[in-house]
Amino acid sequence: MKILTAKHKILIVGSGPVGLSLAVELTRRNIPFRIIDQGSGPTPENESRALGVHLRTLDILTPSGIADTLRAKGNLITKIKMTRDGRQFAVLDLSKHPRKDSAILSIPQGTTERVFLAWLAQHGVVPQWNTTLIKLEMDADTSIAHIRSANGETEDQAYDYIIGCDGAHSIVRKSAGIDFSGRTGDEQWSLVDVEYINEIDPHTGRPNFLTGNGVIVAIPINKNLVRYFSSGSNVIKLIPDQENIRTIHWQSTFQISYRVVETFQKHSVYLAGDAAHIHSPAGGRGMNLGIEDAAWLAWLISEKRAAEYSNFRLPVAQKTIRETFALTDQITNETMLARLLRGTVLPLLLKIPPIRTRIFNNLLALDTPPPPWLK
Ligand SMILES: Cc1cc2nc3c(=O)[nH]c(=O)nc-3n(C[C@H](O)[C@H](O)[C@H](O)COP(=O)(O)OP(=O)(O)OC[C@H]3O[C@@H](n4cnc5c(N)ncnc54)[C@H](O)[C@@H]3O)c2cc1C
Repeated sequence: MKILTAKHKILIVGSGPVGLSLAVELTRRNIPFRIIDQGSGPTPENESRALGVHLRTLDILTPSGIADTLRAKGNLITKIKMTRDGRQFAVLDLSKHPRKDSAILSIPQGTTERVFLAWLAQHGVVPQWNTTLIKLEMDADTSIAHIRSANGETEDQAYDYIIGCDGAHSIVRKSAGIDFSGRTGDEQWSLVDVEYINEIDPHTGRPNFLTGNGVIVAIPINKNLVRYFSSGSNVIKLIPDQENIRTIHWQSTFQISYRVVETFQKHSVYLAGDAAHIHSPAGGRGMNLGIEDAAWLAWLISEKRAAEYSNFRLPVAQKTIRETFALTDQITNETMLARLLRGTVLPLLLKIPPIRTRIFNNLLALDTPPPPWLK
């Protein structure tokens, strides 16, 4: 086997939102790398997938200027109205948070990825699509990537850093023998993106608790388009205002898994995003957490402190998984206690400013460690 010394020291495997954000953060620090993806291009624009971009993520993407572009293309959600069978019982008004720009940015994942790609293209970086990491061989000293290129040729390259941003089924993680334990629930959840004929309020999210039918959550994408997701397998039949529906853009079902790696790093292999952690979509934390991983890793590489990466990120991922589990339990649980907490205790807590700020910090992902490079 002929092993080539790679032109760059860093290989990013995967050009999803996490690989692309890592590419952005390395590029703006003038750190060269190679980025590959087995797919032929970004997430289709009609598949909204990771829809919510949180304040922490926007802060991270501010130095590159990408946050401004995302804000210009997205829709700000500033209120969350909670209802039971359509009757309102609590309002989370994000304008009451101390930060003036407090909101959740709603923007389809395919659009977010295209903003990253356009920024990278302006800086001379284009991912190598249709290029697959077949496997990885590593020991304490070297890591060799076996790669198949778009034209079918294979190559073996040695890298100092191989960074797996290759999603939940990560080959990088499996090749490195890093454990990804946890569990997958049995329940089928469903989501759908619905276009309405008449305009809707684009700035208000609406979780509606349906007696005997779980929960349905509405997240506006723009003034005519809404994402609904439900704890049941047939979200479409639960959608209100059916006569106002023009068309369905995209729908999918999914099961919720909670898994986290035992370590984010082994020798010269690093993991970020879904390759390292997957959890419930409640709270919309998945992609945001992955973009944080990527930004921390880029900073640590630039500081020559990459060996500290797992110590920084593992506790954050573990905490987020605990929180999304608790939130999912809270929104799906129909016991008397859960209903009392939601319907009576929550509205009272929202009236107490320090507690309200803590609740909102969690919602805006401001409860993760602040990035030190943004001081
Ligand atoms: C139906 C659906 C709905 C979702 N809804 C939400 C939501 O509402 N909110 C939310 O936060 N998240 C949601 N998610 C999850 C969100 O999409 C992920 O958290 C996010 O995409 C993770 O980004 P990533 O870059 O880590 O991984 P991915 O987006 O999975 O990207 C991994 C990339 O690696 C590439 N790759 C994989 N293996 C290889 C290989 N061997 N060689 C080269 N390239 C490889 C893949 O082609 C892919 O492009 C949803 C996901 C799905 C499928």
